[in-house]
Amino acid sequence: MQCSVCGAEAEDLTSGEFDGLVVRCKRCGEYAVADGALNDFLRLDYDARVAALEKAKGAAGAGRPEITPGLL
Ligand SMILES: [Zn+2]
Repeated sequence: MQCSVCGAEAEDLTSGEFDGLVVRCKRCGEYAVADGALNDFLRLDYDARVAALEKAKGAAGAGRPEITPGLL
């Protein structure tokens, strides 16, 4: 799959445990995008997607960042 943030080749870690996409990218790290945020997230430009991921990382602390509708 392609990374939803930067478009690089990435690993799809999506499982039934999370309602959305889970991605591991060499550049962006591991992150999740909630189903409810996915369409809006993919419509953002590159800089805005990176900013959203940074915001999710800040909110997640040591855990896996999750891009949720409230974050966009
Ligand atoms: Zn990436």
